[in-house]
Amino acid sequence: MRITVLTLFPEMYHDFLHTSIIGRAVERGLVTVDFVQIRDFAHDNYRHVDDRPFGGGRGQVMKCQPVLDALNSVETENSYSLMMSPLGTVYNQAKAHELSEKDHLILLCGHYEGLDARINKHVDELVSIGDYVLTGGEMASMVIMDSVIRLLKGSITEGSAEEESYENGLLEYPQYTQPADYEGDKVPDILLSGNHARIREWRLEQSILTTKERRPDLYEKHNFTEEEKKVLKKMKKEGLLD
Ligand code: SAM
Repeated sequence: MRITVLTLFPEMYHDFLHTSIIGRAVERGLVTVDFVQIRDFAHDNYRHVDDRPFGGGRGQVMKCQPVLDALNSVETENSYSLMMSPLGTVYNQAKAHELSEKDHLILLCGHYEGLDARINKHVDELVSIGDYVLTGGEMASMVIMDSVIRLLKGSITEGSAEEESYENGLLEYPQYTQPADYEGDKVPDILLSGNHARIREWRLEQSILTTKERRPDLYEKHNFTEEEKKVLKKMKKEGLLD
């Protein structure tokens, strides 16, 4: 996969692309990441990429010409372009999977008061990473890159993403590690039992309970599998669920 980031601040990405799982994925060549400095496409001597908003108001808006010239310089027929924007569809794991199948992602980062609205129609999609406002799209693009790159084959141990939160529509079960007894706070006995079928069932129960408690919105819209329905029935019988 190739990812191209259009930004005014490429220096923000250095540590991100050289650390941990993402660093290894880049090193192994699972993904190549390149940057386009939007300012390189400004025509005036001062390399202005922004100007005051029409109609008045605070701040500066990024101009069509340098942004669209930058976009056109990297777009191919295999590209899929996303604008980082608080107006976009809120990003989630399903979108991460969808993007991980693309050949070439282009991530356009706004800054200041954002991008001239006429740019919107030139990208495939507007995406928001949540209901809050960031200073610029750079952090948002890193969130997208991280979540997509870890899904690429060879990035993380095969199968380990499958049990994570959101993958099957539920949140993950609680995880514990050594010591089994931390100052009197013990891990659940079942996890030390070696009974893998029972552990699997317990984890499913916990996943269901955690999702119901922490994310009732996800719980309500979840399509329970046959295995989950069986566990649900048992939990209701045991009074763990109403
Ligand atoms: N004036 C804009 C508004 O009120 O919607 C906010 C602009 S913000 C300060 C500057 C840039 O940060 C945006 O153009 C976008 O690229 C990025 N950004 C801010 N919040 C974001 C979010 N929640 N998701 C994705 N990108 C975001």
